[in-house]
Parts: sequence; structure tokens; C-alpha cells
Amino acid sequence: MQGKHLGNRLDALLRPEVLGLALYDPGADPDTLLRQYGLGSVIKLSNNENPYGLSPLAAQAMQRRIALGLGRYPDPSGKALCAMLARKHDVAADRVMLGNGSENLLELLCQALLGPGDRVLTQAPGFSLHEIYPRMMGAHVHKVPCTDTFGFAAAAWRQALAGPLKLVFISNPCNPLGTAYSTRELQTIIRCTPPDCLLVIDEAYFEYAIACPGYPDALALLRTHARPWMVLRTFSKAYGLASLRVGYGIASEPGLIEALHRVRTPYNVNLLAQEAACAALEDTPHLEKSVALVTRERARLTQALRDAGLRVAPSMANFLFVDTGTDARQVVQALHRHGVIVKAWAEPGYQTFIRVSLALPADNDAFLRALLHVVAPA
Ligand SMILES: *Cc1c(COP(=O)(O)O)cnc(C)c1O
Repeated sequence: MQGKHLGNRLDALLRPEVLGLALYDPGADPDTLLRQYGLGSVIKLSNNENPYGLSPLAAQAMQRRIALGLGRYPDPSGKALCAMLARKHDVAADRVMLGNGSENLLELLCQALLGPGDRVLTQAPGFSLHEIYPRMMGAHVHKVPCTDTFGFAAAAWRQALAGPLKLVFISNPCNPLGTAYSTRELQTIIRCTPPDCLLVIDEAYFEYAIACPGYPDALALLRTHARPWMVLRTFSKAYGLASLRVGYGIASEPGLIEALHRVRTPYNVNLLAQEAACAALEDTPHLEKSVALVTRERARLTQALRDAGLRVAPSMANFLFVDTGTDARQVVQALHRHGVIVKAWAEPGYQTFIRVSLALPADNDAFLRALLHVVAPA
């Protein structure tokens, strides 16, 4: 054991910020559950993945690349993919940056901007990495709660944004709620965020939300604002490339991108991921099919859960946030025996909530049956 060598001295070696850091919770592992409960199959609804997987064009692009050889380093900044994204979003290519997942960009932003004592603002409930990475750098994280009906708490936001701040992280749609701020609400945040603070809008679920009435186009809103901002998107969710790890950011100015290049590892996005993402971007039918499935299943499952007497936040994403009315960790454990993996929410005030990813109709039905068996609502 490493304890033999360092013992308590390890604690003295580690930065205090690291000692107190929470571990990211990826949810249960399907293979472990298969063995533990002797199950025939497991349905994983805990990571908001695309049940159709990646586009067949992306798979072909990777196969072609494998045939050509993988012995050389990839383009260090993924120029070809950045150029495609710049064209798609009508921005200069020097305002686009790739990450090893958009998580990587969250991390790089924190490394480039934050030091001990800096203040960061995010949402509650919210995405754990919006808190973990700032804390890793020694920053203080403040969270603005949503209203009792999962809505935008305008007064609380205005007040929180008034203080000195370095960074604001919001996900829109929000993970885990699935709800999204409206154009007016987002405009309030943009207007109230101090001009010397970086506003980051994490749009990991953009492709699922964009067809929903009232979902704001953050890029269009921010374009006209002379303030530092960054919009994050990913290939992990609607594009189905979660295993390959590729996300991207669009920034208010090339200087911010340049700063992130200085703190990143030189080849942060591997060659297969770059090739697959380029191909996936062009496969509109695959994306449309994935979004159509989620749109149908989102309405159907929301209604079925509500009919069963459960409270569900109105989602624009590919997951639902459901109040089970009882300790969510116990619900999740009980669902494991039925071969269903969902995520129990751990934040204070939400410990009766689970987040469940939308999947194929048969899997959603299996989840629904198992959940109603476990929680037996009135
Ligand atoms: C899933 C998710 C991400 C992570 O995406 P990757 O590109 O796979 O790193 C980022 N932000 C939010 C809010 C997410 O839900």
C-alpha cells in the first residue's frame, strides 16, 4: 500500500484544495451489477448518452483512419474540426477551441482564471463539475437555487451577480433539472454579470432543446454583447460520441482561446475523436433521428410519471428529474436489482430526486415499471 511509504505525510504533500475535493460520481457500473445480481441485462440510464450511439458515418471515418494508421500525433488543435465549427456558427476559427470533452474546457477555464479565494457562481441543483473544478483551484463556489417550481429565481440571481465574481457557470438546459432559462431570463443573467467576470454557458444539451418553444439562442444573444463569455457544446450527448471525448467552446475573443491553449495538454483531443466529430457534424439525419426519439419519449415518459403521481421537472433535455418522494439512494439501489441504473441526486434539498436518461421506448418502459414497483405511489 502507498500508506507504507507516506502515511499521514501524503496529506501534507497534497494541496488543501485537493484534500477536501469531492469525487465525481459517474453512477453505477453495468458490468458490476450484472455480476452482483446475476442479471441477464442492465439498462444504463445514468449518463444521458444517446441510445442510438454514434453516427454510422463517424464509425466509417474512424475505420478509414485506422486503416491509414494511428502512429502519429494528431493535429494539436484539431484545425479541420475547428474550421467546420467556425463555419457552422459563423465565427472566426480563432474563437473556437476543442476539448477532451467539454469537461476538459471547464477544467481549462478554471486553471486559466481561478486562484485561491476567487468567487464563482453557479446553479443549485447543478452540474457537479461546475463546482469541483473551481474548488480544485481554491475558489469559493456560490450556488443560486431555483424556485420551488424549478424556475428562475430572478431576485436571487440579481443579488448573487452583484458581488465580486470571476466566473459564472450555468448549464442551459440545466443538468439535472432539464429546464432552461428563457430568452428574458438569460438576458437578465447576461446584463447583471459583472463586465470583469467570465460568463460560461454550458449547452451540453443544446441539440435536444433548440426545437423547444422559448429556448434561447445564447450565441445570438451574446454576439452583440461586449463582455467576456464562452459557450460550450459537446459531441457526447445528441451526437452520441461520449466514449471519444470531444467538446468545444466558442469564446467572445481569441485572447481567451489563446489562454486556454497555454494551459492545455498539447494533444488533448485524439485523432479518432477529431475524425469522428467531423463526420458526425455532417450526419444530419442521425442527429435528427436522435432528437426525434428524445422529443417523443420525453413527452411520453413525463406524462406517464405524472399520471402515476410523481413530480417531474419540465425537461428540454434528454433526461428527466423526478421526485421519488423517498430517499433516492435507496430507490437507486432497489432499481439496481431490476437491472436499471439511474442517478440519485445528492445535493441538499434534492435527496429524494433521481435523474433518468431517456432511451429507447422499451428501456423507458422497463424503467417506468421498475420505478413504480419500487416507489408504489398512491
Ligand atoms: C454531460 C455534460 C457535460 C460533459 O460533456 P463532455 O463533453 O462529455 O465532457 C458538460 N456539461 C454538462 C452540463 C453535462 O451535462
